Amino acid sequence: MKLSRQRPNPRSIKLHRTYSVEEAARALGVHKNSVRGWRQRGLKPIDDSRPVLFLGSDLRAFLEQRNASRKRPCRPGTLYCFRCREARAPALGMVDWTSTKARTGNLTALCGTCGTEMHRRARRDALAVVMPGLQVQISEGPSRLNGEPIPSLNCDMAKKD
Ligand SMILES: [Zn+2]
Repeated sequence: MKLSRQRPNPRSIKLHRTYSVEEAARALGVHKNSVRGWRQRGLKPIDDSRPVLFLGSDLRAFLEQRNASRKRPCRPGTLYCFRCREARAPALGMVDWTSTKARTGNLTALCGTCGTEMHRRARRDALAVVMPGLQVQISEGPSRLNGEPIPSLNCDMAKKD
């Protein structure tokens, strides 16, 4: 299969059907691992059963949001909420930063508006600029919010896939 170098087009997804990882990858011209990665970045499957299935409308919303968040980085003090489809302030001003490498890591917070988990990549030495006035809980291990390390995420102009 020839993989597209272009950004996957959300419009190749039909809203009212369900997609397995393989089907989504084929429809969008991406590798299956990309689809698996999206799941870790907030794309929710229909339920916990196997094989994992995604609703077309969720898949499309996720991709549209992802494209949008690449175009507009979040303002300081906010993270991109997948559900609100807007940059939001963290609930209770609580933000976690978990290291992924020596100096970079992921910020995790709950949306102050709807409670959905939000993510943003940030360098450790930039935390005061990215989250001014907020108390950021630093940890070198798993996040206290969801118990597992989170790979790179939404609101950060990420270039790689
Ligand atoms: Zn929200």
